[in-house]
Amino acid sequence: MDNKIVGILGGGQLGRMIVEAANRLNIKTVVLDVPNSPAKQINSNEHVDGSFTDLKSIIQLAEKCDILTVEIEHVDVEALKYVKEKFGVEIYPLPDTIKLIQDKYLQKEHLIQHGISVTESVAVPSNDEQSLIEIGNKFNYPFMLKSRTLAYDGRGNYVVKTKESIPEALEFLKDRPLYAEKWCPFNKELAVMVVRSIEGEVFAYPTVETIHKNNICHVVYAPARVSDSIAVKASVLAKNAVKSFPGCGIFGVEMFLLPNNEILINEIAPRPHNSGHYTIDACVTSQFEAHVRAVVGLPMPKNFTSLSTTTTNAIMLNVLGDEESNKELEICRRALETPNASVYLYGKSTRPNRKMGHINIVSSSMEDCESRLDYIIGKSSKIPE
Ligand code: ATP
Ligand code: MG
Ligand code: MG
Repeated sequence: MDNKIVGILGGGQLGRMIVEAANRLNIKTVVLDVPNSPAKQINSNEHVDGSFTDLKSIIQLAEKCDILTVEIEHVDVEALKYVKEKFGVEIYPLPDTIKLIQDKYLQKEHLIQHGISVTESVAVPSNDEQSLIEIGNKFNYPFMLKSRTLAYDGRGNYVVKTKESIPEALEFLKDRPLYAEKWCPFNKELAVMVVRSIEGEVFAYPTVETIHKNNICHVVYAPARVSDSIAVKASVLAKNAVKSFPGCGIFGVEMFLLPNNEILINEIAPRPHNSGHYTIDACVTSQFEAHVRAVVGLPMPKNFTSLSTTTTNAIMLNVLGDEESNKELEICRRALETPNASVYLYGKSTRPNRKMGHINIVSSSMEDCESRLDYIIGKSSKIPE
């Protein structure tokens, strides 16, 4: 099982954690990204310095590998198709899947064609006031204006609150291909990691609850604090969505739970996902190992995506760069003092709001996880036992 070399496009924290999982299985990985990126820091293989949007760099990576995968969807898909044809390298997720998902509007159209419930959206035919006024008439205000491509951490989103804010919205997202979404007055955001085998079998991790702050994932509660029927409904929706993408690998499915208990898909990521970091400590197999197993074609037995025990509860806290340089390390230090908490740091230089690391807390009840979290974030001063 260790004779295939896996190339990873992207060397950020997700790549770093894929490398860790592959290392444990003695699977060699080669990373394509800028020098000294987080994934390169933890293994000394002959990596490729370059860009995952550049054909030449992708050719260099393909020449060294048997299988390519991604830690980010914003890669050059035409280059991937070229190296697949030219070098016979296997690529998962499939380039066509990455292409569909890269454009959030095409992604939605694809899901609708497969009978999957998504937030209602329309394409913006041209980036001018008249087009947005018509959308405002259709969706009312607020509505969400989104970049179709290259979005992350909400940086391609703009909440259009009133007709008067349309010029600002156009200024904010100018020159980007746009679509608009109806506002979703959700009660909670849910997420499910789903791993798909090459045979098309899908395995869902538990349904979790994600809390965003300034559009960035902040805290994840696993399992989600919802009824079993809602958790199952989210899981089925996520599995059905992932069944619509051929090929294999792990997918992160983000959803909205509406006040009437309807669940709609917000978006899908064709890779490990921030909402799945808790799996490292709380599940039988982590999302990163599951992804490696899927793309290499290793066994994925029954229950390998389950919580480790029937009473396992977990909270994941993202460690974001503080306004004051490195102040976020105080949170990490408190986590190190806390029983049942694990600290992951990604090896990045600090910047406000940058994802610097995460902390997993695992216990037999959510209340206990929460009291540990309170100490870590400084809300309580008593070190939990
Ligand atoms: P990611 O980093 O997850 O890829 P992104 O930049 O692709 O983020 P989205 O997931 O589209 O952005 O949106 C970010 C957040 O904005 C969502 O998690 C949700 O909190 C909020 N949001 C997005 N779409 C809507 C909507 N239609 N109605 C209400 N809130 C929304
Ligand atoms: Mg996104
Ligand atoms: Mg998102």
